[in-house]
Amino acid sequence: MLEIYNSLTRFKETFKPLHDGHVGMYVCGPTVYGDAHLGHARPAITFDLLYRYLQYLGYKVRYVRNITDVGHLEHDADEGEDKIAKKARLEQLEPMEVVQYYTNRYHRDMAALNVLPPSIEPHASGHIIEQIAFVQKILDKGYAYVSNGSVYMDVEKYAKDFPYGKLSGRNLNDIVTETRELDGQEEKKHSYDFALWKKAAPEHIMHWPSPWSEGFPGWHMECSTMGTKYLGERFDIHGGGLDLIFPHHEAEIAQSCAALGHETVHYWMHNNMITIAGKKMGKSYNNFITLEQFFRGDHPLLSKPFGPMVIRFFILQAHYRSTVDFSSEALEAAEKGLQRMQEAYARLQKLQAGKETTVEIGDLRTRCVEAMDDDLNTPFVIAALFDSTRAINTVYDGKGTISEADLKELREVWKTFAIDILGLRLEEQGGDAGKQKAFNGAIDLLLGIRLQAKQNKDWGTSDKIRNELTALGFQIKDTKDGFEWSI
Ligand code: ZN
Repeated sequence: MLEIYNSLTRFKETFKPLHDGHVGMYVCGPTVYGDAHLGHARPAITFDLLYRYLQYLGYKVRYVRNITDVGHLEHDADEGEDKIAKKARLEQLEPMEVVQYYTNRYHRDMAALNVLPPSIEPHASGHIIEQIAFVQKILDKGYAYVSNGSVYMDVEKYAKDFPYGKLSGRNLNDIVTETRELDGQEEKKHSYDFALWKKAAPEHIMHWPSPWSEGFPGWHMECSTMGTKYLGERFDIHGGGLDLIFPHHEAEIAQSCAALGHETVHYWMHNNMITIAGKKMGKSYNNFITLEQFFRGDHPLLSKPFGPMVIRFFILQAHYRSTVDFSSEALEAAEKGLQRMQEAYARLQKLQAGKETTVEIGDLRTRCVEAMDDDLNTPFVIAALFDSTRAINTVYDGKGTISEADLKELREVWKTFAIDILGLRLEEQGGDAGKQKAFNGAIDLLLGIRLQAKQNKDWGTSDKIRNELTALGFQIKDTKDGFEWSI
């Protein structure tokens, strides 16, 4: 029996964990040979949202998100060399230095996006023994073969006993025409057979001893191995980006069924992809914008820096199954939306309760729960919260009142859904918007002092402020009404 769910519609009613009160969740994590970009932010935020919501529903969640630090041969890999090994060779580093460097930077970027750390973050390179044992199990069951020191999945044989391609809706013929000619073709029985273990070429610097050769595991092997090691032979949720369905997740299913005789994953869940200004992200488009570049505004496609909460809010404004197109204009719009939320949240904290409620607040909690239950419909949660800002602003402006009980509930719902589940940092000094406002205010104040000094013919003070701000990168223009400034 192979149960496939690609969405969790009516989540609360249909989602049945395998063990009461506990959820096991595995998400394919980053390959650490470069800085995290938007392609990393979306799955991280999507499954962070799910992790947070499952905990809100009362489940104890074991969330495993791996670090791929070996064996990931991408389609465009130069001569099939492992990217981490290549980077290490070019920069004369120990491969684990490359892994550690980019893992640290990944963690820094994820913390900035308010992505909670997983319960377990296993490294592929730390589970070589387990991967060898898993490959051996598949060999013992007769679904793999050894060829020239490498081990390959015998896909044709497997497909006679199990439905290969079910997750992606492909059959073997589709797969034959789609499979690219990668290295090792001459060793395989069929082009669609994939490597479970690869014999290392002499120049390959990351390799381990095995019964078949000095080599390294195939990329798909790590997730089958670490998923079952930490979550058991059957577990609830496996997630990742839509681009991983084929070949990665199909291969994982095949490996698990071949070794264990059954499927391991109960629910599959995939976030859709991100395009940039309408184009796929890719080397050929030169549009890989790293998260750090977003935070600094340091890329020709960006009009200005965008804070991590703007990126998070932007991603959550779309449903996780829709594609998201990034552009500077769209981010600026998201920034304005986030500012409105931050303002409403700050005002909500300042409201005083009155005798009765004269504003329309509706059943905000029910709307938010129903939206989340409906396959994590975050755009609806955000819309519901926005609707309630009207009531908040009316009371804040003194044009309406709210009762103590309603105010308490309103504050709780905002805290639960905006802060705890959507994971938006609204409370930090008004967030990015608040910081910007404070900064602008301070510069206006300084230039106001300068204007006054000029009127008093205190040229020393006025020149000092002008020169020092100019040295810091400000451009100051005197106008007939006062001044204008920019950076
Ligand atoms: Zn994976």
